[in-house]
Amino acid sequence: MSNMIDEAREKARKNIMDKQLTDQEKESYINGASNRCPKCKSEDIAGYAIEVDAGGCWQTVSCNECHAEWNDIYTLRDVEIVIESDDDTQSN
Ligand SMILES: [Zn+2]
Repeated sequence: MSNMIDEAREKARKNIMDKQLTDQEKESYINGASNRCPKCKSEDIAGYAIEVDAGGCWQTVSCNECHAEWNDIYTLRDVEIVIESDDDTQSN
């Protein structure tokens, strides 16, 4: 019984591995070709809503041509004050 579950898990894991991008595919996508499908290079891609979490956000994008689906993943890179806090003005 548990063997069958293990086998199913292993199969699912392999399936996911097969779908992963090569380092080269990732690099060209991140360095400018992110308006194209990383798999078939079609420009007919569509993004879903951007999900935001502490420290980063991501957007699932899918290809209308080959039906691949992937996540564009963004990480926090900088911070800037838009409105100074009341504490800062009092200490001056
Ligand atoms: Zn595609």
